[in-house]
Parts: sequence; structure tokens; C-alpha cells
Amino acid sequence: MSERCLLEKVFALCARRGIIIPTAEIYGGLSGFFEYGPVGLRIKQKLLNLWRKWFVDPYDNIVEIEGSIVLPEKVFEASGHLEKFVDPITQCKKCGTIYRADHLIEELLGANVEGKSEEELTKIMRENNLRCPKCKGELSDVKVFNLMLKTNISPVVGNIAYLRPETAQNIFINFRRLYTACRLKLPCGIAQIGFSFRNEISPRQFLIRLRGFTQAEIELFYDPENEECKLEEISDVKLPILTREEQIKGTYKVNEFTPKELIEKKIAFSKWQVYYLAREFLFFTQELKIPKDRIRIRHLLPEETAHYSKGNFDVEIYYDGEIGWREVVGNAYRTDYDLSRHSEFSNEDLSVDVDNRKIIPHVTEPSFGIDRILLALLMLNYHDKNEDRQWCWLSLPIKLSPYIAGVFPLVSKDDLPRKAREIYEMLKEEFGKDVFYDEKGSIGRRYARADEIGVPFCITIDYQTLEDNTVTLRSRDTREQVRVKVEELKDVIRNLCKG
Ligand SMILES: [Zn+2]
Repeated sequence: MSERCLLEKVFALCARRGIIIPTAEIYGGLSGFFEYGPVGLRIKQKLLNLWRKWFVDPYDNIVEIEGSIVLPEKVFEASGHLEKFVDPITQCKKCGTIYRADHLIEELLGANVEGKSEEELTKIMRENNLRCPKCKGELSDVKVFNLMLKTNISPVVGNIAYLRPETAQNIFINFRRLYTACRLKLPCGIAQIGFSFRNEISPRQFLIRLRGFTQAEIELFYDPENEECKLEEISDVKLPILTREEQIKGTYKVNEFTPKELIEKKIAFSKWQVYYLAREFLFFTQELKIPKDRIRIRHLLPEETAHYSKGNFDVEIYYDGEIGWREVVGNAYRTDYDLSRHSEFSNEDLSVDVDNRKIIPHVTEPSFGIDRILLALLMLNYHDKNEDRQWCWLSLPIKLSPYIAGVFPLVSKDDLPRKAREIYEMLKEEFGKDVFYDEKGSIGRRYARADEIGVPFCITIDYQTLEDNTVTLRSRDTREQVRVKVEELKDVIRNLCKG
């Protein structure tokens, strides 16, 4: 049997422990959709809380909303999604397999065909006599397929709506209401965490390409004449940039730039955009502890960039040799495009007054793919079993661990369970669900179960506890055990959590 790849191992662990499971598993699954079980949800919630701590909480001028997942067709007419949010597809006339035409051409010919029209793609396919890789059948002409999931509102036929493909549109259509109601002033931001949907042609690689996923987005609105961006706060951050030149040359060397250099060298055109690039880099490396050499910021090529955008940068993480580099945050300088379009299509004035000037604010947008970040955390912190440790384990940073500590009686007899429950109840008062109790199976088995889901500490109540009121505290990372007095346990855990 061939060695399973890292993604398969993480997938197997997630399924076995109910961390993340396929949607409608008992009916064969629903491709591109997953459910978070109790452990997965706790990790995800902690990730989202850290995101808020970094990107929402410190800023008086940023507010958070929760918008509707279903939006009327008009919104997407205005946003351009009805027309532009499409993938080119081709179908095998013999076996019926559907392919992303651009991906198929890239795969078979090694040519970059990003941004080519469906006619151009058909022509390339015909000129090179491309056939179905599975059965060598003839391929159909390339058609475009809209990636939005469509639905009908009310029993009346024709009242079309869509599941949002990005959380951003709720923010634009609510901008004027929120600007007034929250008495915002430029520069200001509106943040949102929520589900979005894309009808991907071939969902794959677990949480990498999903049809339903969680985004955390901020639309930062500002006056392009006067950005009022505090670049000095992040001035000494060295950002690993993969420039357009390096991609065109094919050398893919990452070069370091400070935020100021990105503006001065005219690589980026929005100070707010580079401000966010720096904050994101710090968030990933300092808070999520992603190694620096696993992160780069790729400047998207002109053909990958929407016509209205003045530049997009993707933060990418290197997952492993199989998956390679993948986008985890998209950063788009959307200019005044969205607000202008919604003004036009709704006949509502979405401009604001700045020093007696009427302006449509410019927007820069960081858009985080939460599921992909979570997968990166699982994969980068996954350790295989070895001679030392007979089980796999997750070295998640403490702040992202599903639980801080498990409380175990050494054996479930004599007076140990009663004493252990008493200590558990005491810890629960302070740490809530961050602590859990387990008395099933051997103590070794319980340590293994805790390690597997990344619990950093185990507290064991043994016979000595009954004599001197001390417990053992075991570290997941070193597997060392120390004795701690029960009355000091809360303080010790609190301090360990602080690092
Ligand atoms: Zn075929």
C-alpha cells in the first residue's frame, strides 16, 4: 500500500474524531460541503475570535454586521456577478465528464490561458486536437457557466435570487444606512463573517475548493485624496512579495518590501491595502505561528485582476508538496466600482460628504478564507505517529486548541473519580468548556485522544492527590509531567495560556 499523503491523513483524523465531516455523509455526501463537529467548531470559533481581535476590535471606526445569505438578482446584476462570475466549461460528448476548459488546456498544453474568451479557448482546443483525458472522446465547444447558486423566492415563478458568492455585497448595499446610523466617518470599515457559496465545477482537496465556505471580510472605505492611513504603525514589517516580474520571468523568487516601498515603487496603489497586507502577515506569523517561509504575498497578474481593480494581492500558504501554494486571503483594491454600480442600479445616491465635496469612497478589501486557513493549521501542525509516540498528534497553538486541558482520574475506582470531578468543576468555573473530563479507557489512551485533537495539557488525579492535594500536569508538546498544587492550578493554566 502506498504511503498516504498528508491531506489524506488529516482528512482521516478529522473524520475519525468528528472534527470535520462530509455533509450528508450517510447519503453518500454532498460534494464540496462539510460540517464542523464539536472539536472543529471550537477551533474555528477560536480562529474567528482571534481574527476579530486583530482586525475588528482595535479599530473604533470598524463595525461588524451579519447579512442575509440570500440576495435578490438585482444585486448581482449591479455587482457584475451575473455576467462575470463564470467559469469556462467543456463536456466530453462520449462519457459526459465536465471539465474547466482553461484548467484542461493548462494541464494538457502547459499554456497559461487565464482571461481568454470561450471562443478563444475553443479555438485552442481544436487547433491542438484536445480530447477527453478519460476516454479520448470529442469535447464540446466551450461555454460559460455561472458559479452562483440560484434559488426562487416565494411560490411565484420567476422571482430569482442567489446565495451570495461573497459576503462583500451585503456591506455595499448597506453602506449608506450604516454610515448614517453608526455615524461613521471616512476612513471606516464594515466587517462581516459568514457563509458564501460557489457552484464549483470540481470541488476537491477537502477544505481547499468548497462550494459552501466561511469568509471573514472587511470593506475599508476611504477618501482616495486623503487616505488617512497610519502606515507608520507597520512601517518596519518586511513583506515577502512575489512580484509580477518574478512570475512572468518564471523564477518565482520572493523579495522583501516594506509597506512604504510598495507604495513608492508603485507596486501597490492604496496605502490601506498595504496596511492590511502587513497586518495579515503579522497575524499569520505571530498569532497563528505559521512559519515565515510558508507564507508569501503574490501580486496577481493583470489578466487575473478585474478591470475595475487597481491591484490584487493574495496571501498564500505553502501546504505541502501535493497542494503547493494556495490563496488564503484575497486583497482587492475595488476602487469606487461597487458603490458606483449600486448607485446606478438602485437609483440611490451612495456618495458621502467630505469637507463639502461629494465623493464615492474608494474601497480596499481583505477577504479571508477561513476554512482554508483552518486546513493549513491542521496540516502544518500534524505529526505522524513514530517510535516515540504511537499516535498522531496536533501541535496547535494554545489559543487555537479546541480545549486547554483534559481532567482525568488515573483509574476510575477508589476515590479518584470523585476527587477528579471536584477539580474539574473548579476549573470549569473559570475556563468553561475549555476544560473537559474523561475517565474512559486507560490513562495512556486518554493522553493519546487528547494529543490527537491538539489539547495542550492533561491534568491527572492519582493516589498522591488524595494524600497531598497535588495533581500531575502533562504537556502535549514535551510530554513532561510536573506536580502542581490544586489551589495553584487555575493560576498555572492561566499563565501557560498567556505563554
Ligand atoms: Zn470522455
